[in-house]
Amino acid sequence: MEALKTKVAAESVGLPSIYSLEYEELQSWLQEQGEPEFRTQQIFYWLYQTRVQSFEEMTNLSKQLRQKLAEAFSITVLKEVTHQESVDGTVKYLFELKDGYTIETVLMKHDYGNSVCVTSQVGCRLGCTFCASTLGGLKRNVEAGEITAQVLEIQKDLDKKGERVDSIVVMGIGEPFDNYDELLSFLKIINHDNGLNIGARHITVSTSGMVPRIYDFADEQLQINFAVSLHAPNSEIRSRLMPVNRAWPVEKLMESIRYYQDKTSRRVTFEYGLFGGVNDQVEHAEELAELVNGLKCHVNLIPVNDVPERDYVRTSKNDIFAFERTLREKGVNVTIRREQGHDIDAACGQLRANERQEETR
Ligand code: SAH
Repeated sequence: MEALKTKVAAESVGLPSIYSLEYEELQSWLQEQGEPEFRTQQIFYWLYQTRVQSFEEMTNLSKQLRQKLAEAFSITVLKEVTHQESVDGTVKYLFELKDGYTIETVLMKHDYGNSVCVTSQVGCRLGCTFCASTLGGLKRNVEAGEITAQVLEIQKDLDKKGERVDSIVVMGIGEPFDNYDELLSFLKIINHDNGLNIGARHITVSTSGMVPRIYDFADEQLQINFAVSLHAPNSEIRSRLMPVNRAWPVEKLMESIRYYQDKTSRRVTFEYGLFGGVNDQVEHAEELAELVNGLKCHVNLIPVNDVPERDYVRTSKNDIFAFERTLREKGVNVTIRREQGHDIDAACGQLRANERQEETR
């Protein structure tokens, strides 16, 4: 079983996490052990609905099978290093992985339910000049099971209050498309009826614009929400903010997004951070409206968070509203991102950077 072998080999510390296995992968493994098909459903139920933390607790499996599972896999538990709670209910968790690296996961309370923002990489190699996640470069990819475990840790907290994780955004530390295979496994596991059963329309993936992966993602034909961190109306400005634009400039990016829309018919979200004096004037809004013309899309304006390590300044309220008005007048769907967790280290990577300075240097 090739896929499983790769996953096993990728594991540097301890046994591979069973949370990394897609339904069909677990099914093949069980088949190899001579187990009937319905075992997969039973095990997924224990893992994702009952949320047990040991194979021993899977009482409708034979002792022998529980033993075999325990010899082959681990059930990942993330250690909570610390958490910060905002007055608006946002909770930011700092979790430690098996090799000591730390990652952030955020729980946000919306009127439509509990949303969890997961981390896909330890650090990031894309070097966006405004982002705290990229400060120490990329340490390693986060495995599918470790992304899944972030959701489960928060779900276990919510279980105490009888609540559930309603939606997922892959917008934490890292570039999800730079960890594409693990990302896809994660999406399939949480979306599976017998997994966490989180509907595709309640899952959002955000990319900085790794164009070849956008084509791959389009071909998957998933009903998942798709967001692109655009942040500039042209390549000249975008390359200054995001080095990834030098590899895949705005024109190529837009081409891939049009392909995505042709394939999936899904609306695309553009994230657009307003950086004082860089990309936040009415002329930029006009150029942006031109750029997205003809696409079924939505622009989410993000007033920039001050990152002490970076020099960007916030756009004034007046300029934010002028930008929004210009887009609206040109027929573009636009919202200004509601800020959450402003009293905690809310920007991606800030809590990790502050807690573990040696890791992000
Ligand atoms: N790497 C992916 C996922 C991260 S999502 C991506 O780039 O889309 C996190 C979002 O927050 C991205 O849109 C990112 O560009 C934005 N962001 C990062 N640092 C920020 C800051 N200091 N102020 C405002 N937005 C920021």
